[in-house]
Amino acid sequence: MTIAAPVKTQYEAIIGLETHCQLSTNSKIFCNCSTEFGATPNQNVCPVCMGLPGVLPVLNQKVLEYAVKAGLALNCQIAPDSKFDRKQYFYPDLPKNYQISQYDLPIAEHGWLEIELVDDAGNPIRKRIGITRLHMEEDAGKLVHGGSDRLSGSTYSLVDYNRTGVPLIEIVSEPDLRSGQEAAEYAQELRRIVRYLGVSDGNMQEGSLRCDVNISVRPVGQEKFGTKVEIKNMNSFSAIQRAIEYEIDRQIQALQTGERIMQETRLWEEGKQRTISMRSKEGSSDYRYFPEPDLVPMKVPAEQLKQWHMELPELPASKRHSYESQLGLSPYDARVLTDDRLVAEYFEAAVAAKANPKQAANWVMGDIAAYLNTEKLSITQIALKPLSLAELISMIEEGTISGKIAKDILPELLSSGGSAKELVESKGLVQISDTGELEKIIDEVIAASPKELEQYRNGKTKLLGFFVGQVMKKTSGRADPKMTNQMLSQKLNK
Ligand SMILES: [Zn+2]
Repeated sequence: MTIAAPVKTQYEAIIGLETHCQLSTNSKIFCNCSTEFGATPNQNVCPVCMGLPGVLPVLNQKVLEYAVKAGLALNCQIAPDSKFDRKQYFYPDLPKNYQISQYDLPIAEHGWLEIELVDDAGNPIRKRIGITRLHMEEDAGKLVHGGSDRLSGSTYSLVDYNRTGVPLIEIVSEPDLRSGQEAAEYAQELRRIVRYLGVSDGNMQEGSLRCDVNISVRPVGQEKFGTKVEIKNMNSFSAIQRAIEYEIDRQIQALQTGERIMQETRLWEEGKQRTISMRSKEGSSDYRYFPEPDLVPMKVPAEQLKQWHMELPELPASKRHSYESQLGLSPYDARVLTDDRLVAEYFEAAVAAKANPKQAANWVMGDIAAYLNTEKLSITQIALKPLSLAELISMIEEGTISGKIAKDILPELLSSGGSAKELVESKGLVQISDTGELEKIIDEVIAASPKELEQYRNGKTKLLGFFVGQVMKKTSGRADPKMTNQMLSQKLNK
């Protein structure tokens, strides 16, 4: 008897993300030590973050503010009463042998964020991903492995406590994600949001944003979840996507061959593009949580909550919606422009100064973005102000200058600033669209090229381009291209 192998489409993946996000406060969560990244190892430490006997932690108020703002931006309910708990575990980079975290009363719960993907036809696909909870906790230190003693040759690890006590928020999603692409987009949207809020730099390379993935696979139609596997160690959005895609295939294959899927933690190996088993997973009871006795429970007063709510900026999803529905931009353009808050605000300032939105989008995403890239600048560092960009765009639309002239003067505007209008006037770059003036130039050009004129009249009509080029050369590109074409054709065909 043969049994047909089930096909891939008969399974679905259930994916949730746990994201640790380092808050960009100046000092640590429970002491005054600096949070500076890249300082000399063990420079930013004190008795509190070293866990020495007899010290007491004090909560940094900025941490609470940033956590609440992140919770509000993720549409969460902010807990009227919240507290810290001790999570017990022994690890060399955790000098207290417990981590101060939050267990049963997190600061924020029951929220959502919206992700937007673009389908093949360019239409937006929007999906809400539930946020289970958001809580505050302290980071652990950092182990540097791989040293070896010069005399004995034995290997050792070094520990750096600078990161110990740096504030984190952990954001746990509902298992609403179904593919590697959705998960990567979720992580990117989360990063956009914390960056818009200014509560984190979201830098994945420096570990400010770290994602762990929980993933299981089940046959479509089955209610019960499959066995959950956790994947760690992904430090880019594409690694998140690829690790999930790999793991989905691995789990489906295991189910198809009747192999048991273990509940475990797996590591993503970037070099080999695969996940490998790291350890079997602890349950939460192993951590023996209990309320932190050295910190008082927290209450956020209603007035304070209102104040923080009012301070939230417009968030990327809302900007995307209005760029698409009110400014008529494509979902792709809206996504690119709103990725960085400063770029979005620059674009909006140009539109507010009456720039055509589509044209402004093209300039910001094209020539200006390329300039920022090569010069390694942020958009706030360029001399070209949004008002001047709006002038430049209007001059092209009104026919005062050609698109080519605009591109030619852009570098000067980007580096030196000033009014685009004044620059065009001072350099005498106004487009020649006066028929009389243009006709004189065209006549001169034709008179100077009798050979080409003869060839043209003998049927070599593609020489029109040659004549247009001569006119542009003579006028330094200032001739109105459309008029030049029309007038030249008429005269050559006489
Ligand atoms: Zn300290």
